[in-house]
Amino acid sequence: MSLSPKKRVVLLGATGSIGESTLRVIAAHSDRLELVGVAARSNWRKLATVAADFKVPHVAVFDDAACREARDSGAFPSGTRLYGGLAGLVELAQLPAADIVLVAVVGTTGLEPALAALAAGKDLALASKEILVLAGKFVMAAARRHGAKLLPVDSEHNAVFQCLEGHPAPGSGEPGRTGVRRIVLTASGGAFRDWPAEHLAHATPADALKHPNWAMGPKITVDSATLANKGLELMEAQWLFGLRPEQCQAVLHPQSIVHCLVEFTDGAMLAQLCPPSMTFPIQHALLHPHRAPGTDRPIDLTQLLTLEFRPVDEGRFPMLRLAREAMVAGGGAPAIYNAANELAVAAFLEGQIPFLAISRIVEQTLSCLVNVEPPDLPAVLALDAEARRIAALQVAAVKAKA
Ligand code: NDP
Ligand code: MG
Repeated sequence: MSLSPKKRVVLLGATGSIGESTLRVIAAHSDRLELVGVAARSNWRKLATVAADFKVPHVAVFDDAACREARDSGAFPSGTRLYGGLAGLVELAQLPAADIVLVAVVGTTGLEPALAALAAGKDLALASKEILVLAGKFVMAAARRHGAKLLPVDSEHNAVFQCLEGHPAPGSGEPGRTGVRRIVLTASGGAFRDWPAEHLAHATPADALKHPNWAMGPKITVDSATLANKGLELMEAQWLFGLRPEQCQAVLHPQSIVHCLVEFTDGAMLAQLCPPSMTFPIQHALLHPHRAPGTDRPIDLTQLLTLEFRPVDEGRFPMLRLAREAMVAGGGAPAIYNAANELAVAAFLEGQIPFLAISRIVEQTLSCLVNVEPPDLPAVLALDAEARRIAALQVAAVKAKA
């Protein structure tokens, strides 16, 4: 029998890759976790199955037409409350019946629901890294203001979080974290880790979607192939752990067993290891501060285990260099990087632009816009929209030349 009451979970992005792993964690720990709300963009059929399997009373469908279909379908268990649009996601994030909200909506749509969850005093488990890249300053301030717990779900950040537990957080609000010299996030290298530079020009979406270690949604898998994913993660880490840009670094680690290294000022390093399955960080975030047997099998030390580390080749992967430059530039540059990348990746996945155009479009969008620090959230959203507009023009120009 469980000693504490069940933690009640809202899961935004329930039909995606993180969503599926989260459902496995909840099913494996049904004595400690209860699913009370789920949301997706349009896949209401899968939501109906989840609602029936987990007896979920609150369901949100973002897309209006899909939400109407869902209402008319009769596929949901009787008593299910259906919500629509962004307002529906926000309402779910604030459900009085919820203790923790896991945001795993691809892109930045989850920003407003994440802020709503924090304002309602919920714990926030955050998978959607784009939210922190876009508006990290405002999300972290909201978490502090409302005394809410922000638990990273991204595997590397969850790993850093675990290594830093018990270490003093900065008290002054100044950047820099007491006792920490740097954090090093590991990168698997993505689908093109071993591809020669001259082959990258002909890389197709199908090539980019063949990730060697992780099964993830299409956007993040392409981000892994360009290493933009690691760039976004460095920015995410800066906000989560209050670090300066030069304190956030990346190293290539093909096995994806070590998820981070934290180096302290005395030269000691802590690392976090677990198999490359998202159930480990998801379970840690949902059950925090408690631990329980893992949903997946742990590392087997009776088998030969080789761990390699080598520097990332920024020549072949300019998205990492651009991310570092955007972090050093600060202000609105990370938000511009994120918006242009999202647009370019969508165009690449639709076969509209070649692989190497992704980094060119991001670089050109960054150089087109004057970098000013957005003073508030509306200014952040306006900058995001403007960066998308400029990036769309770059995409159109690439298509016109092809
Ligand atoms: P997927 O593409 O597999 O799933 C995306 C999910 O978001 C789906 O449930 C989708 O619903 C939902 N969604 C998309 N747009 C909206 C919207 N406007 N309103 C409501 N729901 C929406 O993505 P992943 O699960 O791979 O990634 C999700 C997030 O987690 C990303 O930000 C990613 O960077 C991050 N992340 C993912 C990791 C992974 O291993 N996959 C690891 C670390 C971070 P529908 O099915 O209806 O389209
Ligand atoms: Mg990650």
